Amino acid sequence: MSDVAPTMANGWSDRGLGLRLADLHGRITAAQTRAGRLRERVTLIAVTKTVPVERILAAAALGLTDLAENRVQEAREKRERLRMLAEQDDFTAQLMARLHWDLIGHLQTNKAARAVELFERVQSVDSLRLAEALSARAEAQGRSLPILIEVNAGGEASKSGFAPAEVESTAQAILALPALRVEGLMTVAPLAANPENVRPVFRALRELRDRLRVALPPQRATWDELSMGMSDDFDVAIEEGATIIRIGRGLFGERPVPHAAPPSA
Ligand SMILES: *Cc1c(COP(=O)(O)O)cnc(C)c1O
Repeated sequence: MSDVAPTMANGWSDRGLGLRLADLHGRITAAQTRAGRLRERVTLIAVTKTVPVERILAAAALGLTDLAENRVQEAREKRERLRMLAEQDDFTAQLMARLHWDLIGHLQTNKAARAVELFERVQSVDSLRLAEALSARAEAQGRSLPILIEVNAGGEASKSGFAPAEVESTAQAILALPALRVEGLMTVAPLAANPENVRPVFRALRELRDRLRVALPPQRATWDELSMGMSDDFDVAIEEGATIIRIGRGLFGERPVPHAAPPSA
């Protein structure tokens, strides 16, 4: 078996990543099969927080072009570094042009402008104030920004996101904002030793989305997306209707522990 020859020449190759990706694709298909969802799209988003740009390019060379970061500053530094690498060769420039970036971490309102510049979509809209700021900044930049509304579906005090009961009224207010397009809902499920334990959380999010789709006016919203499921629970999330899964460790391996992170993070 050849070792991804064309990408090897550029150095953007990562054999372990290729093997984990193949394994993930198998598990995604298996979950879709169990749920009778083989014909439906499930988008695998590679969560690249703490991952260096060289590995991000290796992922892109394997077709993983939907990426997510959870911090504006880290994303900004990576985009800058990628731009420098892209100036040095065409292959890297072509890979970079295909990348699509989502923001999935809590965003401070005062960083809304930066986020609109750096990200194609914001999944972590967790307050009306933030939605208003994003809409204003997107409008100023002459674009419409796709967003997901983050729901604290597990009801954990430590997590951001709207309580399920407040999503409908908030969504109504968000739909009135001119420069946002609501694509659906996002959640981070509680940590569970057994992913079966979070199945009700995923199911509740899907049911909430289905209700909103009927209850709210269709302008500025599609409600197509359910972003739920991470490395430890994505199989169950797909069975419950996830259209987007966000995978970090399952692709790139364990992240460095926070106190070992470089001081610039
Ligand atoms: C880090 C992160 C992920 C990916 O988590 P893994 O367990 O590494 O797959 C997904 N969603 C959000 C919001 C994250 O912060």
